[in-house]
Amino acid sequence: MSLNETLFQRAQITTPGGVNSPVRAFRSVGGTPRFIKKAQGPYFWDADDRQYIDYIGSWGPAILGHAHPEVIQAVQEAATLGLSFGAPTEAEILMAEEICKLVPSIEQVRLVSSGTEATMSALRLARGATKRDKIIKFEGCYHGHADSLLVKAGSGLLTFGNPTSAGVPEDFTKHTLVLDYNNCEQLESAFQQFGDQIACVIVEPVAGNMNLIKASEAFLQTMRRLCSHHGSILIFDEVMCGFRVALGGAQSLYNIKPDLTALGKVIGGGLPVASFGGRADIMAHLAPLGGVYQAGTLSGNPVAVAAGLTTLKLIQKPGFYQHLSTQTQKLVDGVNAAAQEAQLDFCADAIGGMFGLYFSKTVPTSFEQVMKSDANQFKQFFHKMLDHGIYLAPSAFEAGFVSATHDDKVIETTINAARSVFSELT
Ligand code: PLP
Repeated sequence: MSLNETLFQRAQITTPGGVNSPVRAFRSVGGTPRFIKKAQGPYFWDADDRQYIDYIGSWGPAILGHAHPEVIQAVQEAATLGLSFGAPTEAEILMAEEICKLVPSIEQVRLVSSGTEATMSALRLARGATKRDKIIKFEGCYHGHADSLLVKAGSGLLTFGNPTSAGVPEDFTKHTLVLDYNNCEQLESAFQQFGDQIACVIVEPVAGNMNLIKASEAFLQTMRRLCSHHGSILIFDEVMCGFRVALGGAQSLYNIKPDLTALGKVIGGGLPVASFGGRADIMAHLAPLGGVYQAGTLSGNPVAVAAGLTTLKLIQKPGFYQHLSTQTQKLVDGVNAAAQEAQLDFCADAIGGMFGLYFSKTVPTSFEQVMKSDANQFKQFFHKMLDHGIYLAPSAFEAGFVSATHDDKVIETTINAARSVFSELT
């Protein structure tokens, strides 16, 4: 038995499913999860000492590659000064100033410790500020595991949603309207019917939780126009795509200003930092100034903020995003060419340092289209790539991530592995 298998068996005794976050369990692809013991640059190593080229990057944060020396040093220095104070620090001000500088729609920001906290708090703030209850989200977008966001579409068009998790009361989700991503007509109808009751629309402007799906410009612009017209708050959930698709996030690429933005992942550089922020008049509703309560024992933690600040400094180096996008595009072009040689119904797409691999003829633009891709072929592809030492997301419905350390050699090794694997797929 491999050490990974032994560890997985042992983990399942004391941890439900053997993992602390479900997607790590390989449930949708089958097999044994790899237990990672160290990571460096684009690589990580499992318990059996096998090396992998890593394309999940901790699901987004590892944009600089793993264990960047400057980040590690900043963390070590901060740790020696104390791990947590429960009182404000200057580093938190620097972090807020940096976020507000890089994302101009954010006039004020509050730091939290996870993306879930960020979106959950943004939602409460939107409801508190508008004094409305209803919210709109889109099928296939994931915003963390807060109750009112674990919702799928109801049985009819423009009916309110059903829980996607046991333990979420229907009473909590009856205020959540779930619409189709990239569908402007549905948005128009929803606002026509419920406009004056909608507190907010929350969206991943580049969706990375139903594989990679880019929003159309028209979709985001319609959303912006309708929110402004009806006094609803537009929340961009950029926990994944923020500082990943561009410096300034997806909102800088689409040139659209949301009212609130949730950030996470990259801004913590691998430690738990997330944030929500936006218009100062909305943020003023938060405690201690206003009546919307939100708090956190470890919010703005000094060690985590040190990792985040250093990461934000390094991604601002000239040419950083150019390099990241180029490497990601090289990967996608190479994999697309290899699939063509093998005459497979496959395509790949990228934006910034994020990519999608689809076992379908064309790049999907909706949740419905993604669901039609060939999950069985993906499963085979995933395991054979793993055998070649390439670690992709263990699900056909997750995006992939490239880091600044994925150099030409790493990309070429990956493309060669894909070429070989494509020729074996049934
Ligand atoms: N929002 C988006 C877009 C995400 O991708 C995620 C996590 O993957 C979250 C929110 C939740 O973040 P966290 O896992 O840090 O709670």
